[in-house]
Amino acid sequence: MKVEELVRGNIKSLRPFSSARAEYTGDAKVLLDANESPYPTDYNRYPDPHQKELKEIIGSFLNIQTEEIILGNGSDEIIDLIVRTFCTPSHDRIRFIQPSFGMYEVVADINDVGKLAIQLDERFDLNVEACLSDQQSIDKLLFLCSPNNPTGNLLTEERVIDVIKGWKGLVIMDEAYIEYCERISLVHRLNEFKNLIVLQTFSKAMGGAGLRLGMGFAHAEVIQYLNKIKPPYNINSHTQIKAKTFLSQRDIINQRIERTILERVRVSEILSEIQGIERVFPSDTNFLLVRCREHLALYKFLCDAGIIVRDRSQLHGCQQCLRITIGQDKENDVLIDSVKKFYT
Ligand SMILES: *Cc1c(COP(=O)(O)O)cnc(C)c1O
Repeated sequence: MKVEELVRGNIKSLRPFSSARAEYTGDAKVLLDANESPYPTDYNRYPDPHQKELKEIIGSFLNIQTEEIILGNGSDEIIDLIVRTFCTPSHDRIRFIQPSFGMYEVVADINDVGKLAIQLDERFDLNVEACLSDQQSIDKLLFLCSPNNPTGNLLTEERVIDVIKGWKGLVIMDEAYIEYCERISLVHRLNEFKNLIVLQTFSKAMGGAGLRLGMGFAHAEVIQYLNKIKPPYNINSHTQIKAKTFLSQRDIINQRIERTILERVRVSEILSEIQGIERVFPSDTNFLLVRCREHLALYKFLCDAGIIVRDRSQLHGCQQCLRITIGQDKENDVLIDSVKKFYT
């Protein structure tokens, strides 16, 4: 696979936006290039468009080069950048697993890019043959998610690897929930697979959903193309600074992950015992997919009690299922009490 051959023609020839400051390599003392206000407000200067310091810290954590990292205003922005870099509207097509995260499909729709949903098997695992079947040159991207949202499970590693090896375009592996499971990230195998992009996010285990910071990891050549089209200042100054603080508090974050996993086990066991709960699916994430009798009535009952969960019953294979995030102990207790009350 040649990355260059997958990139849209107009992106290949595009001359990206450049700022005077990005071109300057010295240590500037007087900044009169960007029409900013000179009066300090903490935010009067534009942020670093390449997020150099933040990428160095992230790179050292994951043992990869800064050239192999792109940061986005959430992973959502990176998903959009990937689709726009590689897929020609009204021509190319993406494949994605189903059921999974809705953004892959939405981004394809926004960009008028074709879609092919590949259904997971009855255990919500990857169907390798279906993923790889009938590949054409328009099939540029394949989106996978493991652990998967909303099903909660990891995809079998060997199947994922077989798919990456057999897919002729780029494979995007969304690892938004990787911190909650035992599996190590595919980031460590980027050298092996030039057609792999791994996505992670500050929004879940890191506790930074409000920062809007997503991370993409891939071969430097892939990242270079994504950088070409990204909005120059897509990560604001506050987020760049705050993210460094988050990364320096890994101990606290790890404790919270441990606590969430313990709660996941506890809530899962209690819910399973309740008459009316038909199935609590195994989870490698911070949420549970739960098949319930009278799921819509339960959903509404919970709403009336001030508890919002996610109705996923319309998705393929998720009939009658609600997706319930693991909260703090007390919040989970409130949820459990309400579910018990509904079924008695
Ligand atoms: C929550 C989630 C994300 C995170 O998106 P952000 O834009 O980084 O907040 C990405 N992928 C999946 C599968 C998710 O569930």
